[in-house]
Parts: sequence; structure tokens; C-alpha cells
Amino acid sequence: MNRIYLDHNATTPVDKEVLKAMMPYFSEKFGNASSVHEYGRVGKMAMEDARDIIRKFIGATNPDEIVFTSGGTESDNFAVKGAAYALKKKGDHIITSSIEHSAVINTCKFLETQGFKVSYLPVDEFGMVDLQALRKAITDRTILISVMMANNEIGTIEPIEEIAEIIQGRGILFHTDAVQAVGKIPVDVKRLGVDLLSLSGHKLHGPKGIGALYIRKGVKISRYQHGGHHEKNRRAGTENVPGIVGLGKAVEIAGRDLKKDADYIRGLRDRLHKGIEDNIKHIRLNGHPDKRLPNTLNVSFKYLEGEGILLNLDMEGVAASTGSACTSGSLEPSHVLTGMKVDAADAQGSIRFSLGKENNKEEIDQVIRVLPPIIKRLRSMSPLYQG
Ligand code: PLP
Repeated sequence: MNRIYLDHNATTPVDKEVLKAMMPYFSEKFGNASSVHEYGRVGKMAMEDARDIIRKFIGATNPDEIVFTSGGTESDNFAVKGAAYALKKKGDHIITSSIEHSAVINTCKFLETQGFKVSYLPVDEFGMVDLQALRKAITDRTILISVMMANNEIGTIEPIEEIAEIIQGRGILFHTDAVQAVGKIPVDVKRLGVDLLSLSGHKLHGPKGIGALYIRKGVKISRYQHGGHHEKNRRAGTENVPGIVGLGKAVEIAGRDLKKDADYIRGLRDRLHKGIEDNIKHIRLNGHPDKRLPNTLNVSFKYLEGEGILLNLDMEGVAASTGSACTSGSLEPSHVLTGMKVDAADAQGSIRFSLGKENNKEEIDQVIRVLPPIIKRLRSMSPLYQG
């Protein structure tokens, strides 16, 4: 069976060029980047080249503003906890949104157990953060705002520049989780006006287990991981040189191909959306109609459970994802969709299709062929569906 992968927001295949660039750093160039001898210097040079590629790509000024981490989750933890602890004397209030990834939400929940207070901003029907609510939430005790650049479930792109403008001059640190944005849309830390920005390798055809945190020069956040003096004393642990080289290559490719790939993928995404709209009734697009990642299509199929659709798609060789998270065996509607006030029944029937550069028209047309009969069959069995 020809398998069709439409789950790129979960992870992406490593690009061939990326793999090729990484390979020598597992074997002949295996040195520890902190060693002073030639083996170490080779690793260090490759690491610094990658750092500079990332610096340029996100519009940072200084390579030291990029700290390598083990991925998006660590970058988010580092940013949020690091900022909270560093600014504890100044205040104890953090603002985030109600639709963040669990890497931010659960870090904030943890900080609440440590005495910090957190405001979770509401979003509108498209998943856009409510700026009026943000203005109201800010107090003299606010030390950090963390709002994601693009949402992983619905693809909505948040008004980061506007948020930066609102908080300008108030001494509040601004973090954005750009894990889903980097590699899909342009990201420029200066234009965005952020102090801290998280990114992750495996979402842009790089390897898993590598990411980075941008820390604007002059911003001091507390260490998150203790040990050696790696990464200028900010993140302890032997550097993952092959991963870093892979991340650098993935970012270099994104810099070269971003617009071309985004246009191509958007075309396929819109073809899929139209195919679904033309052939299936009672659907709902989740996420902003325009201000949305070019690869993401989240649709609710009314009267159905997403899991049933997903399993049937999988049997047809199509890999997608549901909007609902399966935690410890219990199916809960997605916090993103409930945050957008999508009613519970619609939230249950949501499917996220997230496309990538290796998808093609034939694959999309195949999905448009297999999906309508699946929906028809499942609805014919659904007690909720009246025809
Ligand atoms: N933030 C967002 C928005 C994500 O989509 C993800 C991954 O799904 C993460 C953070 C976590 O990144 P990682 O898998 O690299 O830990």
C-alpha cells in the first residue's frame, strides 16, 4: 500500500541533505566540542557554523544569542522557568494563552505550585489571542508573557508583534514558542520584538532531540540544567554535535526554500480543503481562514469521533492526527478547540492534516477519494447523525 503522510506537525522526515551533513559527526568527526584538541575543534567549528546559520535565519544579532537544547520542550521549559526564577524578586505573575502546547502550559502549571500566578488568556473563535484581555491581565507584578507564534493543532498565527508593542517598555520578558513556525513562515526576532524564542529540529526536516532557544543579548534567565560550563554556562551537557549540524542544515535549507515550499504546500493544502468541502457535508474549518500556517488544515466532521476517522484513514494508508489528545486512556477534547469555544461534539470529530514538501497532488487526490466514503459509513452508524 502506498502510505500518505499528512502529520508533519507531529514530526517530519529528516531531509536527505540533512542526514548526509550529520553522518560524519557520528563517526570520523566524533570529537567532544568542548575538548581542546583537534577532534574537539572540528566538532566546535561545525557547531558554531550551525549556530550562525540559525542566528541569521531568525534575524538575531549575535551567535551567542542561540543556545542549543534537546528540542522544543526543553527550550520552552528553559525560557519559562528560567525567566520566572530570574525575575522572582521583581514579580510573580506570568501571562500565557489557553491554547499553548503542553510544554508551556504544564510548565506554567508547575510554576503555579511554586507560588507564581498565571493568567491564561482566552482566544477568539479562530484561536487568536484576545489582546484586550492581555491589556487587562498585565499588572506591576507581571514578569513574563509566553504566547506561541503558531498553534500546532489549528495553525493559527498569533499577533506576536502586536503583543510586543503592548508590553513595550514595561520590563516584561516576552517568550514565543515558534516550534511550529520556524521552517514554515518567516521568523525574525527583531521584527517580532521577542526576548526569547523556542525552535525544534524535527519539525523542519531536521533530527529529533535537538532544538534551540534564542535569548536576546542582555536578557538574563536562570540556568535550567546544572553541570558543566557548556553553552557559555547556560546549558550544561555535552553538545549534540550531529544533531546541531543537522539542525543547522535543516535551517539552511529552510532559508533557501521556504517561500517555494510554502507556496507549494499551501496549494496542496487548499486542494485538500476544497476536495473535502466539495464532497462532505457538515464540516467546520478550525483555525483562522488566512492567518494560518500554510501546511495545516484542521477540520471537524460533525457527528463523529476523530479517532474512528483516523483509524479508518490509517487502514487506507493515510496518516493524520486528531485534535483531541489521548491521555492515559481517556479521550478528552482538545484544549485548543474548547478554548476556541468549539462545541464539544465538533471538537471530538476534528482531524488535523498537516502537509509537507514531499507530499504531492496524487496523494491529496487519493485522500479526497477515500475520505468521503469513510465519513459516510461512520455517519451511517452514528446515533447523532440524522441524515
Ligand atoms: N511546542 C509546540 C508548538 C509543538 O508543536 C511541539 C511539538 O509538538 C513542542 C513545543 C515540543 O517540541 P519537541 O517535540 O521538540 O520537544
